[in-house]
Amino acid sequence: EGYYGDGAVPSSGSGSGSSSVGAAGGGGGAAAHTFYDDPALAYTVDRPITGWDEKRAGWLRAHPEFAGGGEKGRVLMVSGSQPTPCRSPGGDHTLMRLLKNKADYCRLHGVQLLYNMALLRPSMDRYWAKIPVIRAAMVAHPEAEWVWWVDSDAVLTDMDFRLPLRRYRAHNLVVHGWPSLVFEASSWTSLNAGVFLIRNCQWSLDFMDAWAAMGPDSPDYQHWGAVLKSTFKDKVFDESDDQSALVYMLLQEGSRWRDKVFLESGYYFEGYWMEIVGRLANMTERYEAMERRPGAAALRRRHAEREHAEYAVARNAALGGAGLAETGVHGWRRPFVTHFTGCQPCSGQRNEHYSGDSCDQGMRRALNFADDQVLRAYGFRHASSLSDDVQPLPFDYPAKAVTS
Ligand code: MN
Repeated sequence: EGYYGDGAVPSSGSGSGSSSVGAAGGGGGAAAHTFYDDPALAYTVDRPITGWDEKRAGWLRAHPEFAGGGEKGRVLMVSGSQPTPCRSPGGDHTLMRLLKNKADYCRLHGVQLLYNMALLRPSMDRYWAKIPVIRAAMVAHPEAEWVWWVDSDAVLTDMDFRLPLRRYRAHNLVVHGWPSLVFEASSWTSLNAGVFLIRNCQWSLDFMDAWAAMGPDSPDYQHWGAVLKSTFKDKVFDESDDQSALVYMLLQEGSRWRDKVFLESGYYFEGYWMEIVGRLANMTERYEAMERRPGAAALRRRHAEREHAEYAVARNAALGGAGLAETGVHGWRRPFVTHFTGCQPCSGQRNEHYSGDSCDQGMRRALNFADDQVLRAYGFRHASSLSDDVQPLPFDYPAKAVTS
C-alpha cells in the first residue's frame, strides 16, 4: 500500500474521526492524530500557537522513526531570497552561488536545507521576512530540534566546522554577539541577527511573536522606530529593524528572554566580511602547510565525500599543532561563516561605504575559498582565489604542488 494509495486520501471536513493518511509500509493501520489534524492550528504569524512543546512531543511519539537521530537529524538550515529576479546584474548568479555553498555544507554535514523564496507575510519584508518563514518551518519540521537561519548573503567558509550544539543545550536562541557591547555599550551592532540558531519550541514561538510586534506588521511599528533610534546612539535610520529590536528585547530590565539567549563570541558563528576576506589566501597557505608537516600524510589521503566528517575531525585536531587553532582577527583558523553584511548582492544597493567591487571580489574570494574545500573530494580546486576555472589536484596534494 503506497503513501498515496486509494484509501490514503484524508477525508475533508471531519474535525475528528479517521482523517488520516494510511501508514506507509506498515500493516495499513491509521496514523495517530497529531496537531496537523487540528483545523485551528495555523502556519501564519497572526495566529499564535499554544502548547507547541506538547504538540511537537505528540507528533514525535506518533513518528518515533524521526525522533532522536542525534545531532545530524536535528538541524534544519533555513535561508531564502526574494521571489522576483534581482535588479543587480549578476545578482541571481551570486545568489545561486550562495545557495550552492549552503547546499554543499548541508550535504557534507547531514543538515536539512530549506530555501524559501516566497514572501509569506507581505507586510513583513526584507529583514523581517525570516520570522514568518521560521515560524512555518518549525510547524512543518517538528522533527527538527533547531532551526538555523542563515542569511542569503552569508557564506559557510569552514566546511570542517560543526555547530557545537551541546554548548547550547540550556539555551533557545544563539546569536553572534558580545555581552559587553549588548549590555554596556547599547549598540545595535553588538550582535548580528543575520545568522542564528533557534530551538523548535514554544519559547521560540513566543519570542518571535514578541519580536514581530516591533516590526512592520504591528500598529506600533512607527513608535518602535523612534524608540530604537533613541536607544541606540549608533543607529542612523529611524526605521524599526529586526536586529535593533532583538538587542532591545535583551536590554530590558527583567527581560523574560535574556537567560535563554546565548551570545556566541567564541568563534565566527558569523563574521564581518571586511575583517575576513583579505586574510583568506593566507589561511589557505597555512592549512596547506599544516598538511605538509611530518606525520600529516593521513590528512592528505584521498577519500570519499561521505567520509568528510572523519577527515574534518582529524584536520580540526591538527590545527593546534600547526598554530591554527585561534579564531578571530588575530587567529588563522578558517572563519565558520563569512557574512557579507551591507553588500546587498541582489538589489545592488550596497552600503555606500564599500568601495567599487570590494563586495563582489570579497564574495567571490569567500565562495571560491569554500568551494575549494568541497572540490577537493572531486580532485580539483580553483586555479586562483578569483578564478572560475579549476585545475586537477595531483596525488598526495598538497605535498605535491599543483602544476599547470
Ligand atoms: Mn545579511
